[in-house]
Amino acid sequence: MRILVVEDEARLREQLVEALTVRHYAVDAAGDGQEALFLGQGTPYDLAIVDLGLPGLPGLEVIRRWRAGAVKYPILILTARGHWQEKVEGLEAGADDYVVKPFHLEELLARVQALIRRTSGLPSSILEAGPLRLDTAA
Ligand code: CA
Repeated sequence: MRILVVEDEARLREQLVEALTVRHYAVDAAGDGQEALFLGQGTPYDLAIVDLGLPGLPGLEVIRRWRAGAVKYPILILTARGHWQEKVEGLEAGADDYVVKPFHLEELLARVQALIRRTSGLPSSILEAGPLRLDTAA
């Protein structure tokens, strides 16, 4: 599973990359909107996490351009507390879910897993084949 993290705050970006890498996701990161636009259009990610407040090109615009193109993978947006309009605008632009900052890392990771699970057509985190049973959330 490959994830794109778009966040301009270096410390938060590094935290997200680390938390996802530890959980065996392959992670790319971008710190501004232009870089995000380029990476997201050209790479078949399984999910993108996008902060809406970005230098270069606003996150909303990045998402609109991705969706106007061929980008179909799920998008989770990071919105600022108190800016409820951002959630609406983000979902309307084509995002699938949101997390409000500051968030608990565990909540974000759970939403990432849920979105990937939903879009890969698996109803639960349990995969079964004959006598084998794998809990992908474990
Ligand atoms: Ca930001």
